[in-house]
Amino acid sequence: MTIAVLALQGAFAEHEKMIRSLGADCIELRQAEDLKKHYDGLILPGGESTVQGKLLRELGMFDTIKKQIEDGLPVLATCAGMILLASAIDGQIAGQPDLYFGTLPVRVRRNAYGRQLASFHAKADVAGIGAVPMTFIRAPYVVEMDKDALASGNGQILAVVNERIVGVRYKNQFAFAFHPELDPDTRIHQAFLDCVKDSIKVA
Ligand code: GLN
Repeated sequence: MTIAVLALQGAFAEHEKMIRSLGADCIELRQAEDLKKHYDGLILPGGESTVQGKLLRELGMFDTIKKQIEDGLPVLATCAGMILLASAIDGQIAGQPDLYFGTLPVRVRRNAYGRQLASFHAKADVAGIGAVPMTFIRAPYVVEMDKDALASGNGQILAVVNERIVGVRYKNQFAFAFHPELDPDTRIHQAFLDCVKDSIKVA
């Protein structure tokens, strides 16, 4: 099983270390050519979502990755990665600029915790996993998930901290506002690998 990690900017090395420690192979996506390689799942790391979005466009990687996600490639997105997936960003006119995949039916708010709370730790439940440590760094949160997505059962809220949604799933897309790769707890990555394994069985 091979996991591709988007390695343009941000905290990608930590994800790679964790994925390898769990026994899966890892490749880095740095240029359009890399998208021709075989991979079974994708990780979108934290960093700066606007920078990542611009680089994805400039390097000609954006449309291919978007299509792969729409076609069901399992994705684990953390922090800026969650913003990249979101279908709506608070305070931004739809489609302007088009730096986000828009495949996850949620509205997110960026840098949402105010300056004093810019970075903090918490421990809270993630559905199906239990209490996990959570490191937030200038994190977004999910303001709301699309009602139809929730009603269909394809969308699910996975984690809430201080009454704010910080973890969601929609089909094969998992998005967290915090950085599971920065804490020693590997269960979120393991759950993602389990989902990737299941998606290979179905295919
Ligand atoms: N604030 C960043 C953004 O808007 C996300 C921060 C992070 O990934 N740690 O993209």
